[in-house]
Parts: sequence; structure tokens; C-alpha cells
Amino acid sequence: MPRWRLVWRIFPSHLFVTLAALAAFTAYTAHVAGQFHLTRVSRELEARGRLMSDAARETLARGVAGEIDALCRELGEKASSRVTVVLPSGEVVGDSEESPQSMDNHANRPEIVTAMSGDVGRAIRFSRTLQRDLMYVALPVYDGTTLVAVLRVALPLTTVQSALWSNRTDVFLGATVIALLAAIASWLVARQIARPLEELKQGAELFARGDFKYHLRIPASEEIASLAQAMNQMADQLDQRIRTIVNQRNQQEAVLSSMIEGVIAVDVKRAIISLNHGAARMLGVASQDVQGQSIETAVRNTALQEFVTRALDSHAPIEDEFVLHTQQEQVVQVHGTVLRDAHGNGLGAVIVLNDVTALRRLEQVRRDFVANVSHELRTPITSIKGFVETLLGGALEKPDDARRFLEIVARQADRLNAILEDLLILSRTEAGEWQKEIRLERLPIREVIDAAITLCRPKASVRGIEMTVTCPEDLEARVNAPLLEQAVANLVDNAVKYSEPEKSVHVEASQVEGEVVIRVEDHGAGIPSEHLPRLFERFYRVDKARSRGLGGTGLGLAIVKHIAQAHGGRVGVESVPGKGSTFSVYLQS
Ligand code: ADP
Repeated sequence: MPRWRLVWRIFPSHLFVTLAALAAFTAYTAHVAGQFHLTRVSRELEARGRLMSDAARETLARGVAGEIDALCRELGEKASSRVTVVLPSGEVVGDSEESPQSMDNHANRPEIVTAMSGDVGRAIRFSRTLQRDLMYVALPVYDGTTLVAVLRVALPLTTVQSALWSNRTDVFLGATVIALLAAIASWLVARQIARPLEELKQGAELFARGDFKYHLRIPASEEIASLAQAMNQMADQLDQRIRTIVNQRNQQEAVLSSMIEGVIAVDVKRAIISLNHGAARMLGVASQDVQGQSIETAVRNTALQEFVTRALDSHAPIEDEFVLHTQQEQVVQVHGTVLRDAHGNGLGAVIVLNDVTALRRLEQVRRDFVANVSHELRTPITSIKGFVETLLGGALEKPDDARRFLEIVARQADRLNAILEDLLILSRTEAGEWQKEIRLERLPIREVIDAAITLCRPKASVRGIEMTVTCPEDLEARVNAPLLEQAVANLVDNAVKYSEPEKSVHVEASQVEGEVVIRVEDHGAGIPSEHLPRLFERFYRVDKARSRGLGGTGLGLAIVKHIAQAHGGRVGVESVPGKGSTFSVYLQS
């Protein structure tokens, strides 16, 4: 169905009603005016007739032939109308226009019949004599009480009608002007009615587009005013609600995207409703790309797909752990909870992914560490136990053997002690590092290096190793002196241990690009490059037998690394097998 603008629906009907009323009124007015005019003309003819009737009576009484006809002509000319005198027999004796002899008997003419009976006869009729429409008024002429003739005065209707027509043209012109004015008025009224509604429509369209700042003008008409007020109120409330919803959604998004855990919401058809940054990162997808996709299309991991199926089917929250193979392998712990509406119908499920890779790696490191410690401790303990049993089994009786065995027991006890001491240092450094308890002060590096060298000097002099130091006196850094001394001592001790006798060890400290670097350089056996990446791990040794033989615990470099980290620094190593090694500690200056 074609839709019309309201103004085009109101205007034609309004105009039609106005024009119909105007036409009816004009027609009625024209009719009344016509009637009035005819009555007036008829009355006028009657009055003329009455004025003439005396003269006619007298002329008839004289009885002179032809005199009455002459009178008729004279009167007709004066009154500009046709005057006829008819005897009671119907014979025409005088006529202003025609010769009475040529005229037929008028006894049966309706106006004459009426006049004969004593009344005023009126008729509008076609005159056969004059061949046109005439208005006739006939009056009885009495002589005393005797009817002597009928005097008829007539006027051609064309004269009457032309007067009427000129009157009607004026009326028609007037009506046309009024109709035009009515059309303009109708248009203005239709616009007046339609405009507030048009404004309401435009306002509603703006509201639908979300422009709630716009406010409808309140029109004068009561009904439309209350509609406009209601719409303005509705827009305010919608604005308020949409703001609240947007705020809530933003808050939710902020919470979800700031979560490290991955959160995926799916509907009952397994299509992704939302997926936060955490989940996108873990799964290696872009969250806006996978919205609306099914979990099978979005995530190529069968374990996760199966987990989603289980979560949707299960009534209670479920939990699992599996490996995701994205850029790197990730161990994820997943929790799945089904979403239900107020009536308990399933809406979908929420899956929370927790990256536990680091945790699992740490657990593995701990397990390895415990195994390593047990292994390291078992060797000296087994050895001590063995020799003690041998002593108890009779070797005590042989003083030479007993002494040798006890010396071995004492050495193994020293070794145990060394391992435990190193473990203690390591655990203290780690604990301090974790709890940020290590106090750092700005101190000259030279003093720390000298203290470490002093510690190692006895061992070095036994092996005939010369130790040199290059360090500016004013070189300072924020350090914990005892810890850094321990680290430098460990490095110098290793350099002495793993160098051939009579070689030299050089310790150098300098400022390089905002860092203080302490280098310990030896000219020992060096380390093959494949060992370098793991050298700072606990209990890692290049040559186990040699390390043990030299009283090493395998913890020295791990301690150095942790001390460097506790200072916010790092460690490094360069080594050429056969030529020597250089270990470096980098500190924040
Ligand atoms: P250890 O107590 O065995 O010396 P460390 O952690 O101090 O333990 O050192 C780990 C291993 O690194 C040693 O077993 C040794 O094989 C190697 N290493 C350390 N320092 C040097 C060095 N200066 N020259 C050659 N090898 C070294």
C-alpha cells in the first residue's frame, strides 16, 4: 500500500469538505437569488399592469375599434414590455408587439385562465407569437364588478435571465476567490496539524539512530505535547540505560582483558560468544576474528574442543589439564562451568584457562633439585658409612688403615659440610632475592675485590698462581658487600682450581655503558661451548670427577648467578678450550 505524507492525507479531504460546502452554499444562494429576482420581476410586471388597467378599462368602455390596440402599443413602448388585452371570450383586442387579428384565442392560456377567475395569473412560457420565452403576468380588469378584460404584461425571459446571469457570474467569481482562499487555508491547517507529527517522526528517527541528545519541541496541542514529552522522557531513560549497559560492558571487558587467565564463553551450539586477551594470547588467535565462530573452527586443539563438550554436558564444574601447542608448548589448567538462565536452561559454558607452564617447570626444577641434592649427599654419606663399617668390622685394630680410613671419613664430612654450606648460601640468597630483603649500599668495588682475593690467596699461592687486579679506586656501585665478595671469591676460586699451576688469574672491574662489570680471567683448560648455556645451573659440572676431586660442590656458579640477580644484574661467560675462560658479573652502577 502506498504511503502518503500526513499533510497530503489531511489537505485533500479538508479541501473537499470546504469546496463541497462552498459549492452547495453557492448553488443555494444562486437559486434563492434567481427566485428572488423572478419574484421581483413578476411583482414589477403586476405593478405595471395595475397602473395600466384603468386606462385599458376606460378605452374599452369607449368601445372605439382599434383604440385599445393603440393604447397597448403606447403603454408597451413606455413600459418596455409587451402589453396584451384579452376579452373574457379569449379574443385578443390589443397587443403591443403583434396585430391582434393574427393572434389566436387566448382563453386557454394558463395565466389568462387564472386572471379570468379573478386572481393574478403568472406564467413563464414560450410565446408562439414572439418565438421566445416570456414571463407573463395577467390581471383581471373589472368595470364595477363585471370582468371586462384581462390585461397581460410580459417581459422576455432573456432580459430577466441576462440580469440573473450577470448576478451568477459575480457569485461564481466570488466563490472561486473564496475557494482559492479556502484551499490556502486548508493547506495551512493541514500543515499546522501535520507539522508536529512530522517533528515527532524526525525525533523518533533520531532516537532510533541513538542520538539521545536531541529533544523534541513541545507543541501547543495537548495530545501531541504529552506524546512529545513522553518521547523525550523515553529518550532520556534509554540514554541512561544504554550508558549504564555500556559502562557495565566496559567494566566487564576491562576486568576480562586485564585477567591473566584466559576466559572463553561459548553458547549451546559451541559458538564463541566472547574470548578475552588472555585466551587469545594462549590460543594464538585474534579475539575479534573468532567471535561467533564455532570452537572447532577457531581453536585447533582437540583436547580443548572435547573439554568444551564435556563442560556443556556436565552439571557440575569440571577441571582438567592439557598441553596447548601454539608458538611454544603451554601447560594449561582448565576449569569449565555451564551457564544457566533463571529457569535452569543451559545457555552455554565458560571456560577459564590458566597457564601453569611456569609452575609445572618450577615443580620439575624442585623435583630435580631434590634428586640432585639427595644424589650429591648420598655419595659422601655412602662413603662415610662404608669406611665406618670397615673400621667397626676390625680395621680399627690396624692403626695405619684406621688412620687412612678416618682421614677419608673426615674429607667426606668436609665435603658434606661444603655442600650444605653452599646450599645454605644459595637458599639465603634466593630467599632474600624473592623477598627483596637484600640491602644494597653504594660502595667502592675495589674493596670487595681485594677481600675476595685475600680469601683465595692461600690456595693460589699453594698452586703458584699469580693474581692481579685492575680496578679504578673510585669505581662504585650499589652492592651488598658480603654477597658480592662471595660471588667474586667463587669465580676466583674456580679460576685458581681449574688452572694449571704457575698460571695467572686477572680480575678487572670497569664501567661499561651504565653497568659495572667485574671480569675474572684465567688461562686454564677452558670450557667446551656446548656446556656454556647450562654452566650456571645447580650441580652442573663439566667434568664431574675433576670437580669432585678438587672439592667442588657444583653450586659455586649457581650462587654467583643468584647473587648477581639479587643485585639486579646478570652473569656471562666466554671460554676457549685450551686457552682459558672469562667469567663476568654485570651490576647496575
Ligand atoms: P664446582 O664446585 O664444581 O666448581 P661450580 O658451579 O663452581 O662448581 O662450577 C661448575 C662447573 O663449571 C665446574 O664443575 C667446572 O667444570 C666448570 N668451571 C667453572 N669455572 C671454571 C673455570 N674457571 N675454568 C674451567 N671450568 C670451569
